[in-house]
Amino acid sequence: MALRFYNSLSQQLEPFTPQDGKTVRMYTCGPTVYHYAHIGNLRTFTFQDILRRWLRASGFALNNVMNITDVEDKIIRAAMAQGKTLREYTAEYEEAFLEDMATLRLERPEQVVRATEHIDEMVDLIQKLGEKGFTYESDGSTYYRISKFPEYGKLSHNDFGGMIAGARVDVDEYDKDDARDFVLWKQKKEGEPSWDTPIGDGRPGWHIECSAMAMKYLGATLDIHAGGIDLQFPHHENEIAQSEAVTGKQFAKFWLHAEHLIVEGQKMSKSLGNFYTLRDLLKLGYAPETVRFLLESVPYRNKLNFTMDGVKAAATAIERLRNFELRLKTERFGPDSDAASEARTAGAVLRFRETMDDDLNTAGALGVVFEFLRDTNSAMDSGKFLAGNVASAQGLLSLFDSVFDVMRPTTVAGGISDEAVEALIAERVAAKKARDFGRADEVRAELDAQGIVLEDTKDGPRWKRK
Ligand code: AMP
Ligand code: ZN
Repeated sequence: MALRFYNSLSQQLEPFTPQDGKTVRMYTCGPTVYHYAHIGNLRTFTFQDILRRWLRASGFALNNVMNITDVEDKIIRAAMAQGKTLREYTAEYEEAFLEDMATLRLERPEQVVRATEHIDEMVDLIQKLGEKGFTYESDGSTYYRISKFPEYGKLSHNDFGGMIAGARVDVDEYDKDDARDFVLWKQKKEGEPSWDTPIGDGRPGWHIECSAMAMKYLGATLDIHAGGIDLQFPHHENEIAQSEAVTGKQFAKFWLHAEHLIVEGQKMSKSLGNFYTLRDLLKLGYAPETVRFLLESVPYRNKLNFTMDGVKAAATAIERLRNFELRLKTERFGPDSDAASEARTAGAVLRFRETMDDDLNTAGALGVVFEFLRDTNSAMDSGKFLAGNVASAQGLLSLFDSVFDVMRPTTVAGGISDEAVEALIAERVAAKKARDFGRADEVRAELDAQGIVLEDTKDGPRWKRK
């Protein structure tokens, strides 16, 4: 069975090939840089990374554009509150985001582009929409008239038949399932950053940035457009309305949406305050590849329920994989090759490919790998795995790791950083003070697992690396 994805547009699994048969032109919605990314955001970006890697493993080249949303209501509010320019404010979070991506081993898309550097392209698109009669002005701002676009709702599969013509929304924060004319260009407000352009002094709405940048770099019809499920409506619906109204062509062949990471039944989000950043988890002593494994382990169209037990299970799983790899490398197996072992490996490679081809079923693919580990370990124990079987088994691990990328330990100069150790020790001191001895013991165990020896002296705690 060939590679296939669930296309949100058709609500079906469809076989995938890029339009030119070679290079996948893909647009992925990037972060809004007003805060550190939380691991819910990073789940979506991890999905995009898996998607990239599996497309490559399937023989395609990639041209992936990701935007950085660096102008938006929340950003403007925060920057103004701190008396900073937009760029001063967003630079820190953009850098932090790219750093988090690198820490999690997420590949950098071929092109990472900032909204504020594409104002001309957005203005141009809005002018074209105007020429075709899709816009109107009100109070100096320009809006998209969705009643002019009969296919509005085709991505989110909402029937907006009874749509209220003329109801407008001019903020970047939307209610779900509420179809309204959306703002393309907002008139300047006193004290806010703005651009003086032929369509007025103001700034772009959020949706126009993705249409403008996607089509500039990738052409009128993308092979894949991907993002988190919360972007399906209205953001992606609006991108379709803007782009197709101008080009008359289908904007994206495939729409892929990742489900949310949730905590205790609720979406992890900045506004609910129920979030962990990657940095929070690293401070607790977890390795980046452990977080990566956890984010990969649930297929992207299922909700991922985040728990600390899940993180611990991910660490154990990686340990099993590494022990197996070590065994392959160091154990002395008998001469020759065992036919059954060779067949087992070949079968596992085939099934791994089939499960990933099936809409990136990462859980299934992990199942294949762990079953292979179990069976091969017992074949090794009973002398039925021979020297001639090592290369193909290593081949399976390489295929697995070219996508999952968890085998290599992160080397933060000998493991956990000094700052993370200090933070944990401070937490243990606080726990003891609060007579929470359970937590204090947990922290000690965590430090021990990280190779840190902790000594309580009369001068306070002292630590060293084992
Ligand atoms: P933002 O920085 O808010 O624009 O979000 C960046 C990406 O993270 C978008 O693709 C969102 O859909 C996605 N996202 C936000 N919250 C979550 C969550 N809890 N789980 C998974 N993805 C999320
Ligand atoms: Zn977007």
